[in-house]
Amino acid sequence: MRSEFDKNLISNDTLRKLIDICGEKNCACKKEELVCYGYDATKKHFMPDVVIFPNNSGEVAAVMRLANEKKIFVTPRGAGSGMTGGALPVCGGVVMSLARLNRIINIDADNLTAEVEPGVVTGVFHKTVEKKGLFYPPDPASSAFSTIGGNVAECSGGPRAVKYGVTRDYILGLEVVLPNGNVINTGVRTAKGVVGYDLTRLIVGSEGTLGVATRIILKLLPLPASKKTIMATFNTMEKASQTVSAIIKSGIIPRKIEYMDNAAITCVANFTNTDLDTKAGALLLIEVDGSEYETEQQIKRLNILCRDTGAKEIKNAATKDEEAALWKARRSISPALFKYGSFKINEDIAVPRSKIPDMTNKIEALKKETGLMIITFGHAGDGNIHINIMLDKDNKKELEKGKKAVEDILDYALKLGGTISGEHGIGITKSVYMPKEIKEVELNLMKKIKRVFDPNGILNPGKIFV
Ligand SMILES: Cc1cc2nc3c(=O)[nH]c(=O)nc-3n(C[C@H](O)[C@H](O)[C@H](O)COP(=O)(O)OP(=O)(O)OC[C@H]3O[C@@H](n4cnc5c(N)ncnc54)[C@H](O)[C@@H]3O)c2cc1C
Repeated sequence: MRSEFDKNLISNDTLRKLIDICGEKNCACKKEELVCYGYDATKKHFMPDVVIFPNNSGEVAAVMRLANEKKIFVTPRGAGSGMTGGALPVCGGVVMSLARLNRIINIDADNLTAEVEPGVVTGVFHKTVEKKGLFYPPDPASSAFSTIGGNVAECSGGPRAVKYGVTRDYILGLEVVLPNGNVINTGVRTAKGVVGYDLTRLIVGSEGTLGVATRIILKLLPLPASKKTIMATFNTMEKASQTVSAIIKSGIIPRKIEYMDNAAITCVANFTNTDLDTKAGALLLIEVDGSEYETEQQIKRLNILCRDTGAKEIKNAATKDEEAALWKARRSISPALFKYGSFKINEDIAVPRSKIPDMTNKIEALKKETGLMIITFGHAGDGNIHINIMLDKDNKKELEKGKKAVEDILDYALKLGGTISGEHGIGITKSVYMPKEIKEVELNLMKKIKRVFDPNGILNPGKIFV
């Protein structure tokens, strides 16, 4: 496997062959076109040599065969909303946008399955199945623009994971183009299946390093008849996290339990016209689903429970508009953070739910100790905390403090029995921290698996492993 990050320039002859495969209008080579495909949500930038937009899995396979023969790097790309740089062409070469493979091929209500191409936008798929009374639970907060292919590659989570699990729990099978251009099919179309190694699970979450997913067989559920939301504010982060544990202990599993700390509340209040209590230490947004009767009962119990654990204020959404208004606060965090500062380190640890108070106390202590602005929010229901350390990138001392704080946070998450990435993956931004969690033996096994799939190291180089 190549390790050097040499610029992977493409000869005119190879470019001509790429154009022959995908068509001239589906290959972008001009600088102004290439620039856009060198970014993702990390705001880091690497220039590709060419961007291609294949129209079907046959074209994907032909491109991979050519790339493997010519030893050209290929980086698959969905919507470029990844938080760890997975879609960035760090070694140059070809960016392969899967945006044109965007067909919903089939929705099978009898068997609760669907088959889609990877470029389908997750939110579009949600709306399509919901019109048929069906439900696809994985819902990263980016679902309005991220693609199912990207979700599969990152094994994305999202707010609904607390009750319904993550993307891997809804992938029954895949069609995958391997780095040498061969096409494989993994998994089943049935509710069960145990024949051979589970290649589907290996490829889901492999961050586009083992193959390019060109078809995805998804599991669906019946759409819950009703959902209801409440928002509760608390004087302290500790009280909010204790409430999360109390909710789960009570036997209610809400479909979402999201939290924002005071810094996140203030940030949203300052940069949007959302009406929030900036004196609150933390807020919880809780959504339940089920039959109309079940949701009513759960909301009643949650009101009592939040009052008992010391909520400052509780708001119940009575209408769809009120529900949307409450969720606006959570949806506004990412855009508001962008307005706060030009540079941030973004961590995505997860800890066992019962350890959330320990983790949030640790973060509060770090804020005091370092004087850094640290904003936290996340999927409290599954212990997944997004930690944003806002930094002035021209201030070396602050950068050093920020890096040290990251090390402390990751070490502490592991000490609590957690993980260094709950849902954003490793990509390029977390690869140096991999050895903290994954021991050498396992790491070497993973590298060997990568070599079996991709002996020439052409697919998405420079990702996951340092
Ligand atoms: C505002 C915002 C909110 C977010 N909220 C969440 C959240 O709640 N939960 C969460 O988990 N993530 C979240 N994310 C992160 C991101 O949206 C997810 O990781 C998402 O799955 C990326 O999808 P994408 O289509 O943008 O993929 P990209 O960013 O384009 O690519 C991501 C990775 O997938 C690979 N890839 C893409 N398509 C394929 C394919 N067909 N075959 C093989 N590999 C492929 C790429 O090479 C890359 O490694 C958020 C991001 C933003 C900006």
